[in-house]
Amino acid sequence: MSGSSSLNRAIATWRQTLGAGSVRLDGDCDVYSQNCIGVTRQVSAAVLPCNETEVAAVVETARAEKLALYPISTGHNWGYGSATPAADNCVVVDLSGMNRILDLDPVLGLVTLEPGVTQQQLRDYLDERDLPFLVPVTGAGPTCSLLGNALERGYGITPHGDHFSAVTALRAVLPSGEIYQSAIAEAGGTGVDGAYKWGVGPYLDGIFTQSSLGIVTQMTIALARVPEKVELFVFELPKDEDLEGAVEAARALRQSLGDGLSAINILNRLRVLSMIEPYPQAEVGVGEAIPASVVDSMARRRRLPHWFGVGALYGTKETVPAMRRRVKRVLGPKAKGLRFFSKTNLGILHRMISLLPGAAGRVLQERLGTLDETLDILLGRPRETALKLAYWKSGRAPSADPENAKSSALDPARDGCGIMWYAPLVPMTASAARNYVDMVNEICPRFGINPLITLTTISERCFDSTVPILFDPAVEQERAQACYRALFEEGKNRGFLPYRMNLQSMELYTAHEGSVFWQTVNKIKHAIDPEQLISPGRYHSVASEADKKNEDLAGKEAAIRD
Ligand SMILES: Cc1cc2nc3c(=O)[nH]c(=O)nc-3n(C[C@H](O)[C@H](O)[C@H](O)COP(=O)(O)OP(=O)(O)OC[C@H]3O[C@@H](n4cnc5c(N)ncnc54)[C@H](O)[C@@H]3O)c2cc1C
Repeated sequence: MSGSSSLNRAIATWRQTLGAGSVRLDGDCDVYSQNCIGVTRQVSAAVLPCNETEVAAVVETARAEKLALYPISTGHNWGYGSATPAADNCVVVDLSGMNRILDLDPVLGLVTLEPGVTQQQLRDYLDERDLPFLVPVTGAGPTCSLLGNALERGYGITPHGDHFSAVTALRAVLPSGEIYQSAIAEAGGTGVDGAYKWGVGPYLDGIFTQSSLGIVTQMTIALARVPEKVELFVFELPKDEDLEGAVEAARALRQSLGDGLSAINILNRLRVLSMIEPYPQAEVGVGEAIPASVVDSMARRRRLPHWFGVGALYGTKETVPAMRRRVKRVLGPKAKGLRFFSKTNLGILHRMISLLPGAAGRVLQERLGTLDETLDILLGRPRETALKLAYWKSGRAPSADPENAKSSALDPARDGCGIMWYAPLVPMTASAARNYVDMVNEICPRFGINPLITLTTISERCFDSTVPILFDPAVEQERAQACYRALFEEGKNRGFLPYRMNLQSMELYTAHEGSVFWQTVNKIKHAIDPEQLISPGRYHSVASEADKKNEDLAGKEAAIRD
């Protein structure tokens, strides 16, 4: 069977079953090749089903014609691959149009939604109905899919911050075309299924995360309720060596305050500068990181400490003051400038500072603005604040199209930003944190990359650190990738390993010879998807057959237009 003729037949079938407007070819597929990590993949076509039945029909045709599919939700996986498939010549299954909120149970706090539902959409839905729940927001902002992020096991800093932990049920179309749901749902318990995560029998929902075993069509997520009181706190660590004390304090607080305390973020000063200062392009040599002397003078000008921390307390008007006292007692002696902010006292500060004249007043207004937006995020309101990071080095002004509200939103892939996340897990001890920070500070500049470091307490035992490798995709892609590999290898030697991989680096894990884990993954993949129809190359090693199968699709273009 010729590859191009099988693609042509599939396209004809999809045009019939989905409608011609739901099949994209050629230049209309360019959007799926745009990514922030500088990787190039050929995309054969894209289909946009609008419900589960259509997804099953797409899979059915792909199986008959032996075509590989790559499902995305909103495709905003910036810094990990965006909408770009892990392998060449896939047909992208773009689920952004499947964006219905199917159910929201305000008593149990459960929402069931489709892949295309974004953070902002859920926010608007809750606001319109005055429902007291937080959206599980991330730094990636309003236009990102809740389902896609949970499938990547992403996280945020609101309660239920580990997003897959909050997923209680899902449905998926399997490579066979069958519909997967839990045993409890199959037995008729669709109502109670979403109220209990683990179901009965082997726990299988998890195999659809960071994998290539099905196309998830809906998900039930337990939402956190808006608490009676939320307080943001910030602190500063004036000297580099203050980090160790703050790590011990952060762990003690996470261990004692439980769910009342959000994740605590500790950011180095370069990471803070990336949020408040323009990139000092004129003072940086070609292919070099910002010199230490320049970082020093920028930090001095802004009166920045070496490290900056932020966290939040969630509770009632009785519990928050008690937790505040605990934070003061544990963190206070280890940090400077520990301050607490609520919406009320921020409002008062805004009014006071607006009376201050001149530059001092403007700087304080700016700082308060950032605190306001951070508090919004902590209240489950999506914001683009953190997303601006992707534009720092490129300096590219985000394109704005007043005709189209969606395209005026930030989109680092569309705007040609280079960002690759190194996101390793670091045990939450002072010595491990120091060892890790020294490693990043030593390796990144060797590759001309700025070491921007955030440590986030994703549990009471471990940080996930995020280092955004910012680069110019036109000329620095290889250097950025080499930096990523060096961090991965040295991190592995020191015991720091990423919780999530970009699509061109997955093989650093999956190609590990003799790995029982990845062999098991491959066996499961083979059993469920013997023809490698779904997301070949995503978190498993690609069989050479799948490569061959797709190779002969390369000459499809002319034939498709016939
Ligand atoms: C500045 C910045 C800040 C960021 N902050 C955060 C953050 O705080 N937390 C965080 O987690 N991430 C963050 N990100 C990373 C990323 O942008 C988000 O995780 C984003 O939510 C992922 O994109 P998406 O929601 O559009 O999911 P998608 O891109 O649609 O999905 C991600 C992947 O999951 C798979 N997939 C998606 N849908 C399906 C489906 N229905 N069935 C089967 N497989 C599917 C696909 O392989 C896809 O590539 C950040 C990125 C940037 C640039």
